[in-house]
Amino acid sequence: MIGVDLGGTKILAGAIDGDLRVHSRAQRAVGSEDQEGVLESVVSVVEDVRAGTSMEVHAVGLGVPCLLDSDRGTAVMAVNLPWEELDVRSLMSERTGLPAFVDNDANLALLAEHRAGAAAGARHAAMLTVGTGIGGALLFNGALYRGARGAAGELGHMVVDADGPPCQGNCPNHGCLESVASGTALAREALRVARSTPDCGLGRALQDGRTITGALVTELAHDGDTAARDVVALIGTRLGVGIANLVNMLNPDVVVVGGGVIGAGELLLAPARDVVAARALPPSREQARIVRAHFGSEAGMVGAGALALEGLGAASPWPSA
Ligand SMILES: [Zn+2]
Repeated sequence: MIGVDLGGTKILAGAIDGDLRVHSRAQRAVGSEDQEGVLESVVSVVEDVRAGTSMEVHAVGLGVPCLLDSDRGTAVMAVNLPWEELDVRSLMSERTGLPAFVDNDANLALLAEHRAGAAAGARHAAMLTVGTGIGGALLFNGALYRGARGAAGELGHMVVDADGPPCQGNCPNHGCLESVASGTALAREALRVARSTPDCGLGRALQDGRTITGALVTELAHDGDTAARDVVALIGTRLGVGIANLVNMLNPDVVVVGGGVIGAGELLLAPARDVVAARALPPSREQARIVRAHFGSEAGMVGAGALALEGLGAASPWPSA
């Protein structure tokens, strides 16, 4: 199978086998392309993976950061992507010549984690994918919870600061978790620190002409730069506020955190756990494990492979509650 994760800034694709192992990968940046341009990039990444693997490919799965009509495979609305009323599944199938399966990227990240990762065996779980934005997915009684029209699980758009900054893209809200705790927010906070504190790793990186991205902040944090660690901890603390809300609302077995920002690992999660311990109610706060996605930032891609794998064998690979 080929699994593809279409994110806000890049497309990640891989050849995925029946045990959800990744055999070869390809990626490509996405920027300001229009609807057709993004689709073309997705198809070309699929071709790159096919060219680079000896695995037989029977289907392609695609995760998209969109509100999706999952029965029709149509992208209905996206916050961080120029897709609206696009029949993604048919277009993918037409252009790759393969059966195609499409779902929301965060749903697929949770699918991968539930099948073979950090949420294996869980009955009730929540997933946050922290990247350009913050995606979310919910599992109740072992089935994905989609809501009345498939729009449930927008966990990144829960408000954690009523007077907070405007949210991103098409979201009309402000003070959303996504606006203060996404990879975009991480880079923004780090740039602020880099400008105000020239004598730290972040400040020196800025003076060297490097772009302050979430990946760079994570790298500097792992290298021990105190300023970068403080920024990651700040984002972790804010994530913890969102997770405390989830824990109180859902009493989940596990909350899985994935997406690009989870590269920071415990530097991000330890402050988040502290906040949940301090702010959520018992017994939910003791019950919920808050863990890193087993598949890391590749959870969406692996889940897309799982969707394709199970989609070929069953009408409804990912039951909804
Ligand atoms: Zn929002």
